[in-house]
Amino acid sequence: MLKIYYSRPIALDEIEKAIRKNFGISVKDAGMLPIPEKAYDITRRQYNAAFLVSILPPYSIWIVDKDIYVDNMNFVFGLAMQNRAVVSCYRLPSDTMIAKEVVHEVGHIFGLLHCKNECVMQFSNSLAEAMKKPIKLCEECKRKLRRQLEK
Ligand SMILES: [Zn+2]
Ligand SMILES: [Zn+2]
Repeated sequence: MLKIYYSRPIALDEIEKAIRKNFGISVKDAGMLPIPEKAYDITRRQYNAAFLVSILPPYSIWIVDKDIYVDNMNFVFGLAMQNRAVVSCYRLPSDTMIAKEVVHEVGHIFGLLHCKNECVMQFSNSLAEAMKKPIKLCEECKRKLRRQLEK
């Protein structure tokens, strides 16, 4: 089971469906979680993704409406650390794109790494790249995922 938090009310239907389809796990609407101002970097005018991830409980994902960063990158769509992740919908133009980035980060939560195949686990640092990749796992990642879930 995976918990979903959000910083502002959003439609979860498509996101939940995409998670169930790719991972076969159930999703729990964990409700609103406001972003602490402590996570804001005044010079970058962005929120620190690693800090946001660090305050989450295990096996949860947090969809935030603010721009987020990690060191040495202009921005990130999302970040996963161990079994928790954050996704920013700030630069994502549709529910489908939010669902796609959520599936990518959930893949990391379950131990998947970046993938070069036609696969949602492709790394993307631009909207064009993110748009191009499919919203599903390739066969190789599916096999890895099955092994991870059996552990
Ligand atoms: Zn990634
Ligand atoms: Zn893959």
